[in-house]
Amino acid sequence: MEFPKTDSQSLMWIINRPELVFTRGEGSWLFDHTGKRYLDFIQGWAVNCLGHCPPEISAALKAQVDQLISPSPAFYNAPAIELAALLTANSCFDRVFFANSGAEANEGAIKLARKWGRKHKNGAYKIITFDHGFHGRTLATMSASGKPGWDTMYAPQVPGFPKAELNDLDSVKALIDNETVAVMLEPVQGEGGVIPATREFMQGLRALTREHNLLLIVDEVQTGIGRTGKLFGYQQSDVEPDIMTLGKGIGGGVPLSALLAKEAVCCFEAGDQGGTYNGNPLMTAVGVAVVKALLAPGFLENTVARGEQLSRGLLALSAELGLGGERGVGLLRALILADDRGPAVVEAARNLEPVGLLINAPRPNLIRFMPALNVKAEEIEQMLSMLRDLLKR
Ligand SMILES: *Cc1c(COP(=O)(O)O)cnc(C)c1O
Repeated sequence: MEFPKTDSQSLMWIINRPELVFTRGEGSWLFDHTGKRYLDFIQGWAVNCLGHCPPEISAALKAQVDQLISPSPAFYNAPAIELAALLTANSCFDRVFFANSGAEANEGAIKLARKWGRKHKNGAYKIITFDHGFHGRTLATMSASGKPGWDTMYAPQVPGFPKAELNDLDSVKALIDNETVAVMLEPVQGEGGVIPATREFMQGLRALTREHNLLLIVDEVQTGIGRTGKLFGYQQSDVEPDIMTLGKGIGGGVPLSALLAKEAVCCFEAGDQGGTYNGNPLMTAVGVAVVKALLAPGFLENTVARGEQLSRGLLALSAELGLGGERGVGLLRALILADDRGPAVVEAARNLEPVGLLINAPRPNLIRFMPALNVKAEEIEQMLSMLRDLLKR
């Protein structure tokens, strides 16, 4: 197949894309229109937690597509009920609202916190978020994000998102006033450069928010669904948040996200929240397959082991080549480069012949790795050896 140069111009330009058309995926491997294969450590941006086209997801989609696709979000359907029950049975939360993207789940969390503030806290509405945080691309979630430049890009912002510094409890304390209703953070800042919130900080935040009667909201769109080696990232620090959002991995590649909350916080009244596709059985059937796969004996143990293997390999590479070390949790990790050649490394890795490598640089001085959670040991070794050859050039 030739690259469709003219037809591809009909897609709205949002970023320079390489002139490749990906046509097939299998596990940790992607294939382009020329038949070249790529070892994929991006996985649709940490989305394909079971790899490309896993049999569990194909089977769930095929079975559901002939049964029922969209009855309406105002009716119950069996996969949505089953997935909600699986999520509440395996977390500290009591209720689930399904949505279609991480940003939409976070919008729901923001609305729920504001509603709770109106009902129980004299109309308090401010949600303290963090510099370099990332919560999505809707207007409110862009305002909640701490990405440099996003405050003016589509001005005016949605008000009410003062920014603190991650891992600095005093910076949070300093922002609390009568109008504060919640603190919202990613347990590991993903787009910000794979920066974990420390266990001490998470516990300090939980104590501080309890003391001031504030909600603690965790955005686990990237860290949830096994990415850190536990089912949810908050479980790494033994805190119980009031609200959590999930996205990316929960759909294993299809658009599905979720807002979870403790019973005491669930205060939506009839008509306050909704959405045409929310909780549709085609997507929630996939969610059920994903969560069951992760809960199978040995699955998360293997994710933890692969995370340790990746960490050791990156540290060895860093020591050998004089780089800045590595960081992360589970299978969300970053190699810190000594300079800003991240984007050049990403491009050279993709262009390697005969087999390409897909990695990503959320910041110019680091490379991020978010492989499938069931990535094989030999695939990690192959990735490390390809990266080593590349960085030595
Ligand atoms: C990707 C991401 C989002 C946004 O999810 P979309 O599905 O792209 O809307 C929100 N929060 C975090 C932490 C993310 O990594």
